[in-house]
Amino acid sequence: MFLKVSLYISLIIFVLALIYKVSTWFRYKIGIGATEIPTAARFFSAIKGILSTIFSAKILTLLKVFVLDVLLQFRILREDFLRWLMHILIYGGFILLLLMHALDKYVTVAIWKNYYSTINPFMFLRDLFGALVIVGVIIAIYRRFILKVPRMFTNAMDIYAIIIVAIIMLSGIFLEASKMVAYSDYKRMVDEYSGLSDPQELKALEAHWVKEFGTVSPNLKGPFDEKTLAQGKDLHQSSCAECHARPQWAFAGYGTAKVISPIGLGIDQARLPSILWYIHILACFVGLAYLPFSKMFHIFTSALSLLANSVMEKGKSSPANIATRQALELDACTHCGTCSLRCSVIMAFEEITNMNIFPSEKIASIKALASGKELSAGQLKHIQEGVTLCTNCYRCTVVCPVGINLQDLWFNIRETLLQKGYPEFLVLSPLSFYRGLMKEETVQRDYEKPLIQAREAIAVQCDLMKKKDKVLPLTPTNRKLQSGLNLSAQAKTFSVCFGCQTCTTVCPVVGNYENPQEALGLLPHQIMHAAGLGLRDLAFGSNMLWDCLTCYQCQEQCPQGVHVTDVLYELKNLAVKRVREKTLQPTERK
Ligand code: SF4
Ligand code: SF4
Ligand code: SF4
Ligand code: SF4
Repeated sequence: MFLKVSLYISLIIFVLALIYKVSTWFRYKIGIGATEIPTAARFFSAIKGILSTIFSAKILTLLKVFVLDVLLQFRILREDFLRWLMHILIYGGFILLLLMHALDKYVTVAIWKNYYSTINPFMFLRDLFGALVIVGVIIAIYRRFILKVPRMFTNAMDIYAIIIVAIIMLSGIFLEASKMVAYSDYKRMVDEYSGLSDPQELKALEAHWVKEFGTVSPNLKGPFDEKTLAQGKDLHQSSCAECHARPQWAFAGYGTAKVISPIGLGIDQARLPSILWYIHILACFVGLAYLPFSKMFHIFTSALSLLANSVMEKGKSSPANIATRQALELDACTHCGTCSLRCSVIMAFEEITNMNIFPSEKIASIKALASGKELSAGQLKHIQEGVTLCTNCYRCTVVCPVGINLQDLWFNIRETLLQKGYPEFLVLSPLSFYRGLMKEETVQRDYEKPLIQAREAIAVQCDLMKKKDKVLPLTPTNRKLQSGLNLSAQAKTFSVCFGCQTCTTVCPVVGNYENPQEALGLLPHQIMHAAGLGLRDLAFGSNMLWDCLTCYQCQEQCPQGVHVTDVLYELKNLAVKRVREKTLQPTERK
């Protein structure tokens, strides 16, 4: 009764939560066009899109992505073997346990008519799948708290996911172990099923179970004589073997039973098997009911995100479906941090300690924004700063293991905020490559406005930037400004630059202009030179610094190993720092 009521309550909560979460995919508004599309139109457009995809050649793409990326998770494997192993163990083990153990009445029994959870191979498989999940959880804890994978942040949801899975697994193993040692469980089975009444026979069977099954008896202790054991074995074969295989096959439970057997009688008297059963069942039901709100929801959403992104194309898919996909993507993020690890603009965090600079951390803020929740001016400013610092370089999108089109997400949020006229501060890369590609769409929305604002903010502090003539002298005529650049050890590599100009040659921004020096001022190799001379303001005054896409081409190609892009970024940070110190109130600087 308790089991049924708890199951139904958690199922009802799960279904209601699922309906609510799915409805947000059609209600949340991200992007310029999304606000104008009604929820119903998005819903029907999604149905139409799904049907037209299923009945087209795109079904092959869906199948391929389903096998390679959803089931085998190749995208994760490409990035990090340990993470892939962790994911496969937890997800594979959990799904198999769910089907074979939790849903045994519906799935396992339908396949094997003579199924008993206490015979093989089920007993062995249950422990094997449980052990897979536990090893996966151990790897997750190791990566997060011991290995401390860079830029992988831990939030309450990450902790909850680890704890709930650990409780379900450990309570399951301890439940199995405590039932093995519990004498009352053994006694109940004998009374109900054996039909034995002869004291000698009962003693022989009990001796066999104490020796072979780990039962801790208050009446008998080994060693037992051969004759009793042989009789017990025969009785076991005739009365119990049909439903009970040797417990050693349940290696995790049996190993634990051996460890706890010295306190086996106390465990039984304290009715620990019943308590553990309640803990195990309730943890499963809590996990189920809360699943749509937890990180584990990505079991569904990340698969949907991968599938949707594999068949949707910008410019071809309907804006309604793109808006829906983007809302779904907010739920698909697993908070793995891979995107933050590869993000091109993370160096900005050294000066602007705003977590929204990290793509993995931006998702939660954007979800709040998309939900229409009232956000404070400070929160909006942080989101604005995070999405505007982003250069839309595409790196995060390429590596995201659940296929979220992050670049599109950032772009849409940035343009939405610009359109709404939310406060902007120090827009460092307004002419990112991606934004350039989108110029036709954004021209009517003041394409150059953020650029002008940012430059004006800097120009107030840097006299050289005000000069009309952008071709600045390279001779150190401004020696009074030469105060050393105080860059990090990494960025200080500019000192070994020998002026080969490779960085400038490979730079896509430089290549974009017929007369790059006129448009950009100092070119990358010249900025390295200016940095070497300590001409900070000369470097700040170069448009190149602000137009850099952080594509890292220059850095990758430099024969001297100069961290060209990092130098450019640190110079930007220095300029920003100077402006922030002079223009912001102390409380606004973080
Ligand atoms: S697109 Fe933006 S968030 Fe993504 S890696 Fe590039 S700079 Fe970072
Ligand atoms: S956006 Fe993708 S890469 Fe970034 S944390 Fe989320 S799932 Fe990981
Ligand atoms: S490629 Fe390297 S060595 Fe050559 S000019 Fe650029 S920074 Fe200097
Ligand atoms: S990172 Fe280097 S190559 Fe790329 S745009 Fe900036 S200066 Fe040019």
